[in-house]
Amino acid sequence: MNALEQKIVTEGNVLSESVIKVDSFLNHQIDPLLMKQIGQEFTDRFSDTNITKVLTLESSGIAPAIMTGLVLGVPVVFAKKRKPITLADHFSTEVYSFTKKEMNNITISKDFLSPDDNILLIDDFLANGQAVSGMVDIVKQAGANLAGVGIVIEKGFQHGGKILRQDGIRVESLAIISSMENNKITFDKEGAL
Ligand code: 5GP
Repeated sequence: MNALEQKIVTEGNVLSESVIKVDSFLNHQIDPLLMKQIGQEFTDRFSDTNITKVLTLESSGIAPAIMTGLVLGVPVVFAKKRKPITLADHFSTEVYSFTKKEMNNITISKDFLSPDDNILLIDDFLANGQAVSGMVDIVKQAGANLAGVGIVIEKGFQHGGKILRQDGIRVESLAIISSMENNKITFDKEGAL
């Protein structure tokens, strides 16, 4: 079992058959050493592409995204869930939040995405794919190229990963949970860290 899977099993708290809480290392308290490994792993996996920018969604995507940006040596942009009054010209799209059960109008300034960019999207979780699809939409609005998507924890029993891959999007997930039934976490070994 790899370090990330180990962390998920020992510190994850299965709240239901479809939701897991990982507040001790990813969603509230953050484990910087693990994030560093994650940044290195995403960089290795996408080493065949010339990424110019990492894009994520606030707030839990920021830690793995910034470590990936650090290793790649490129800027990191995060989409905002609430548009500040200081944000003038921007791209925006609607995203339904899996955990908060609400719609968010996510925004990114037009200053930070351009048709010259080759984007790597990073997020903490992949469930039904709403967050990633919203970011893909913004990449399209900007006319940028999407190199792929890096996910820390994919829940393979939900359908986001399948839909995105069927759409031809390259999705690299570092841990893929295949089931959380009866409080027992099992992993899909395919593609994991
Ligand atoms: P999706 O948009 O793919 O349905 O859900 C992904 C988003 O919802 C992620 O950005 C993440 O913040 C949140 N999320 C989805 N499933 C879980 C989960 O089981 N646990 C936690 N902590 N967050 C989740």
